[in-house]
Amino acid sequence: MPVRPSAALLVMNECKQQFDVLIVGGGVIGCSIAWRLAQSGQRVAIFERGDAGKEASWAAGGMLAPLAEADRADEFFALCVKSRALYADFAAELKTATGIDIEYRTEGTLFLSLTEADDHELEERWRWQHDAGLNVKRLDAGCVRKLEPTINERLRWALKFPDDHQVNARQLMQATLSAAQAAGVQVFAQTEVRRLLSDSHAGKNRIVGVETTQGVWQAPVVVLAAGSWSSLLAEATHLPVTPVRGQMVAVASPTPAVRHVIYSRRGYVVPRASGFLIAGSTTEQVGFDRRVTAGGVASIIARAEEILPGFGDLALLETWAGVRPGSADEMPVLGEDPAVAGLIYATGHYRNGILLCPITAQLISELLTKGESSVSLTPFSVLRFAHRRAVG
Ligand SMILES: Cc1cc2nc3c(=O)[nH]c(=O)nc-3n(C[C@H](O)[C@H](O)[C@H](O)COP(=O)(O)OP(=O)(O)OC[C@H]3O[C@@H](n4cnc5c(N)ncnc54)[C@H](O)[C@@H]3O)c2cc1C
Repeated sequence: MPVRPSAALLVMNECKQQFDVLIVGGGVIGCSIAWRLAQSGQRVAIFERGDAGKEASWAAGGMLAPLAEADRADEFFALCVKSRALYADFAAELKTATGIDIEYRTEGTLFLSLTEADDHELEERWRWQHDAGLNVKRLDAGCVRKLEPTINERLRWALKFPDDHQVNARQLMQATLSAAQAAGVQVFAQTEVRRLLSDSHAGKNRIVGVETTQGVWQAPVVVLAAGSWSSLLAEATHLPVTPVRGQMVAVASPTPAVRHVIYSRRGYVVPRASGFLIAGSTTEQVGFDRRVTAGGVASIIARAEEILPGFGDLALLETWAGVRPGSADEMPVLGEDPAVAGLIYATGHYRNGILLCPITAQLISELLTKGESSVSLTPFSVLRFAHRRAVG
């Protein structure tokens, strides 16, 4: 449960500006929600511990690939596909609002089979998606090589997902932040939220504000969009979101460059419009350690080399790491806390926060401005972890 504010703390910021909604976290999730809310006339503030957009959202690969990664159709898959469908308009709207091009590219995604074990997994994916009428194509090796001549000769066959696209995550981050600010959102950088503040009225808890390193702010709604750090603020509610490190590598693009996002079961290579390739990633449970390690980089290069022989000879441009906010069941946590009115979760997006950014912003904004969202948030409610509260 969030804690109650002391009278002294509340007095401290009595004369501070009033907001309808306070958002904790200035990543793509916090900024895009803030943008949509401000467009609906809400007065919104974002509190960011460091500088906005320097954590997971800055580290991401930018793939919008629900089909390439899905093994079944469920509510989570449906949410991902809905969000993907919003992207072309989202990119255009951000360009109009900010002038920033998020490099939305539509060449599609290839998933290579390079071994017998790969055959099995790709066959399964092909079967259920084809039977479900999804846009997935099966290509023989010759066909793939016509599309991407530099791919490994060991290629057996591949799946093509024409609608699984990509964006430049750093440009997206900058664009959502700029769009939010242009719409009137106030961003408090270097301002860490230390505690969520709640009060009890007629036996019901409700949020009343936040205590930050710069003082207390009051508002009837707080959106928790603090990525991997969300559980630290919602400690008593046992929100199971933990950091999962992913490392990345960027190299100078070869000639001819690849055009598609290319996956194997072990890694991926993504071409960027600005003329380089990025490759990823690792999946490591090492807490909040965001160091790049020699072993991590070596493993990424080995897997990229398996996709594109010669990758390891290209000039190394940059390496980096970030922590994905992974929930216990790898699905996002969205919607109001049933036990604390006004406390809204928008976290736990794990590997799909870039993909899910437009739909998350839309649904949370609908929830707060219309009282309900156009897609049910029930499957993503924090309630699914209720047993943890009981035993915790
Ligand atoms: C290597 C890597 C590759 C990825 N690739 C993809 C991909 O290809 N496609 C995709 O869809 N997703 C991808 N992801 C996942 C995606 O990056 C995340 O799901 C998404 O960025 C989460 O956004 P967020 O805003 O919730 O978190 P973040 O971007 O981490 O933002 C949270 C913010 O909250 C701030 N904060 C935390 N605590 C506090 C506090 N107490 N007070 C104030 N501020 C606070 C943090 O400083 C941070 O800026 C990838 C992630 C990684 C690491």
